[in-house]
Amino acid sequence: MLKKLKTIEEMSFKDLNLSENLMKAIADAGYENPTAVQAKAIPIVLSGKDLLAGAQTGTGKTAAFTLPILHMLSEKDSADRADRKAAPKSKPRCLVLVPTRELAVQVEESVKTYGKYLPIKSTSVFGGMSIVPQIKALRRNVDILVATPGRLLDHAGQRTADLSGIEILVLDEADRMLDMGFIVDIKKIIALLPKQRQNLLFSATFSEKIKSLSEFVLRNPAFVQGEKQNSASELVDQSVHMVSQKLKSHLLSHLIKHHKWEQVLIFTRTKNGANRLADKLAADGISATAIHGNKSQPARIKALNQFKEGSVTALVATDVASRGIDIDRLPYVVNFELPNAAEDYVHRIGRTGRAGVSGKAVSLVDREEMRFLKEIERFIKREIPRVLFDSFVPPANINLPVKDAPREFSGFSNFNHNNTSERQFKGGTGSRTAQTHRKSSDRQDRQNRFGVSAAAEGFKDKSKDNFKDKDSRNFSGSKKSFSSSNSSRFGNSKRQNFSKNSFSKQAKG
Ligand code: AMP
Repeated sequence: MLKKLKTIEEMSFKDLNLSENLMKAIADAGYENPTAVQAKAIPIVLSGKDLLAGAQTGTGKTAAFTLPILHMLSEKDSADRADRKAAPKSKPRCLVLVPTRELAVQVEESVKTYGKYLPIKSTSVFGGMSIVPQIKALRRNVDILVATPGRLLDHAGQRTADLSGIEILVLDEADRMLDMGFIVDIKKIIALLPKQRQNLLFSATFSEKIKSLSEFVLRNPAFVQGEKQNSASELVDQSVHMVSQKLKSHLLSHLIKHHKWEQVLIFTRTKNGANRLADKLAADGISATAIHGNKSQPARIKALNQFKEGSVTALVATDVASRGIDIDRLPYVVNFELPNAAEDYVHRIGRTGRAGVSGKAVSLVDREEMRFLKEIERFIKREIPRVLFDSFVPPANINLPVKDAPREFSGFSNFNHNNTSERQFKGGTGSRTAQTHRKSSDRQDRQNRFGVSAAAEGFKDKSKDNFKDKDSRNFSGSKKSFSSSNSSRFGNSKRQNFSKNSFSKQAKG
């Protein structure tokens, strides 16, 4: 009789035939079931085939390659030893190339976590740090080497890293490595590797460049797709506050204080912007620090650790610096400015809603950024709810140019966002904040309009009607607007999708 094959959702770690010692480490990590990319990729890697994997960060992709690699290296190691033929280990056997220093640290941490019961040694090398301790570490029989391309080439040039024993090559976040211009370095490194080896390429996206890189590196690869491409995590509750650029830092301080957010990762577009914003938040009494490419590696590691431990509330980062930041159960991500590339939005909000735990991604959007917002919504194939924040009173000393004051917005409905007085509205192109600001000069008037006075409830009800009228006047032709019933329908389907796809780190608490 034919045995019924298990679906990916039904698979457990037991079905993956990983060694006892790995199973123990997996149980210690609190993982109950493999994620989709793990269930699909691990058997292929164990079979020795080359692999092309579509997997975004946050889907468990690191374990998808680390677990089978640890399994294979340790099995082969003990077979060699039993054979008594093995030469003393001196060269790395697996090379994982990653785009950033932060990702190098995190991948190596994963190797250590999953390999803690195995006699496998690892180290990482990356720029921005003194090369001397890395040279010493490389002398100590390393099995798995995690590296950024530039620093690895420095080591190869000085003959402090010998790549002639590499059996497995992993290109992690290959799309990001190409975006960062590493293609020439990658090709130089590949030229230093033995021809006979297994190759694994992980990428969140598949551009023409990635296709040609995979043709260059992989031989008859199997292909797996983890989470659906271009999909923002179903676990991330996304929202947009329409707000003038000038008011953003004030609104952000207000949001952090009002919601009592204790750990929030904030994205800015520029390094200077990140510094300025961290200073402004600090001036507002919120502990904040910035992390970007101009900071030394020790400063970046320190900032990241402070943020992870909870001694810093707000970490302000640029896109490149944020790459690879993996913080368990990071609850909030804020886009202080939208990225110009829609894919970066998905990467950014992928910092939260990880490992089966839900998170919130809030974007502060100026009118000038509407085209980016539209682009992002097309890319993720959903509209992001616009939310009004009633209790925010902009400082009186900020003069908004008339162009910054948005034109109109149409009817809103109550939106349950942390039980605050935030409301969702449909189809508007600007913030009520700025609109109100334009019209009012005196503080009391602003307070009334923002619903923070005792008459707030009355205001809300009245304004609902007003806005209904406005809606029919201003938005009669708007096909793009979406209704609250739509978004609650979406909310339901989100939850259904999640229960199907989620993995169970939640149980860990
Ligand atoms: P990655 O996509 O590799 O960056 O992983 C994202 C997060 O998922 C990390 O914090 C991992 O610890 C966690 N993780 C990986 N695999 C599993 C699993 N099978 N169950 C629960 N959490 C996991």
